[in-house]
Amino acid sequence: MVKTKDSPKLTKNPCSSCGKERVVIKTYKEYVGNSLVINTLTACPDPDCQSRIDTQLAKEERFRAEMKLASARRLLEQKERRAESLKKAL
Ligand SMILES: [Zn+2]
Repeated sequence: MVKTKDSPKLTKNPCSSCGKERVVIKTYKEYVGNSLVINTLTACPDPDCQSRIDTQLAKEERFRAEMKLASARRLLEQKERRAESLKKAL
């Protein structure tokens, strides 16, 4: 990684795909449990690059959701199989 000079305006968060310094779009406060967390939303200054990132993120999000569903289904099947074998044992 290339070290850049510190600047208060920059986020020190280079874009993972083009390496440009990401810019802060907005900050918002959110309560997580009892503590107030300040979230910073950053984006790549290159709109084309950012839209690629958004697409990639959406893809990953969908993949995660599918994995979650699949593992839930597997768990259910395991439970059913266990119940089945218990029935046979009796
Ligand atoms: Zn970028």
